[in-house]
Amino acid sequence: SKLRVGLLFGGRSGEHEVSISSARAIALALSTQQNANKYEILPFYIQKDGCWLAGEIPQKVLESGIPYLETQHQLDSNSKTQALLKRWQSPLQVAEVDVWFPVLHGPNGEDGTIQGLLTLMQVPFVGSGVLGSALGMDKIAMKMAFAQAGLPQVKYKGLTRAQVWSNPCVFPKLCDEIEATLGYPCFVKPANLGSSVGIAKVRSRQELENALDNAAGYDRRLIVEAGVVAREVECAVLGNDQTQASVVGEISFNSDFYDYETKYTQGKADLLIPAQLPDAISRQIQEMALQAFAAVDAAGLARVDFFYVEATGEILINEINTLPGFTATSMYPQLWADSGISFSELVDRLIQLAMERHSVGE
Ligand code: ATP
Ligand code: MG
Ligand code: MG
Ligand code: MG
Repeated sequence: SKLRVGLLFGGRSGEHEVSISSARAIALALSTQQNANKYEILPFYIQKDGCWLAGEIPQKVLESGIPYLETQHQLDSNSKTQALLKRWQSPLQVAEVDVWFPVLHGPNGEDGTIQGLLTLMQVPFVGSGVLGSALGMDKIAMKMAFAQAGLPQVKYKGLTRAQVWSNPCVFPKLCDEIEATLGYPCFVKPANLGSSVGIAKVRSRQELENALDNAAGYDRRLIVEAGVVAREVECAVLGNDQTQASVVGEISFNSDFYDYETKYTQGKADLLIPAQLPDAISRQIQEMALQAFAAVDAAGLARVDFFYVEATGEILINEINTLPGFTATSMYPQLWADSGISFSELVDRLIQLAMERHSVGE
């Protein structure tokens, strides 16, 4: 009989719309002749307010690509108990799922929270577990794991919202220290986000202060990184304990940096696959991608992002994304397509990797 795949998408993060696009592409890939013989899709849509829906509505969201928000329970939420129960209620169809495919980006989806819930359910799921997801989401923890693995990266400083919003005597000292150790330009980021949301490139004290204040509105944890002038290259990883790296791809764009608008406006960025790089550099990037995957204990899939400083030949790791964008035009599936694994085959492999990981009790 067919394996029932719980396609879990939407979610409470700022990347809700991206998640819908990714889920649509994956649903399409599961419907190809070969996959349709093996898998049946059970779509689960998490609304922006966190409520789970199963059945017809998720199906409609998949077909239309348009977010849905049922307002009924918002009226109910005058009652605190009702609101709490509603948030915890998962649809009955949850029990019918054989394997979960979380297609959620950002906090609550990519950071280990959903992975914890699915682990408790004792049902296999695609991608990293709690630790890999959490380490892959928090840029400070991620960088600590990379440093431990000996992977080169930019200079950085981790800080907390409490420090940024501290009394007016502490904050200037913090900025002094950032200026002295990292200099300008530097990048201010919320530690746990994606799609460049909340990230600013700053060139002066005033911009630094504003960016820190803004980023503190997104996350308790923040990171400031020294800015590097480099080509941006990415590598996809597939596997559990036995991992393989894809060809390397490059992103080209004209904007100041790869910000949200550049990422999601048609025509603002180009993916060059494979990247035009010396063979030795590509191989080194692939090797580092596998090391990064292991360093955070990722599983199934990840996209690893790098800076390649052409002048010096230096390769710096930027980050790992354990649930990378998965639309038909996203870097992750395109890197595999160029490496000889089609989109539908990729989705099949990921589900098989989830089953494999579950069966050995990891
Ligand atoms: P993703 O959507 O890939 O998850 P993200 O939100 O996690 O992205 P980063 O990849 O950390 O964000 O940064 C976004 C972009 O900002 C990078 O692709 C790059 O263009 C720019 N950038 C970030 N950090 C630096 C840096 N230290 N030096 C130069 N550019 C940087
Ligand atoms: Mg990221
Ligand atoms: Mg991301
Ligand atoms: Mg990135």
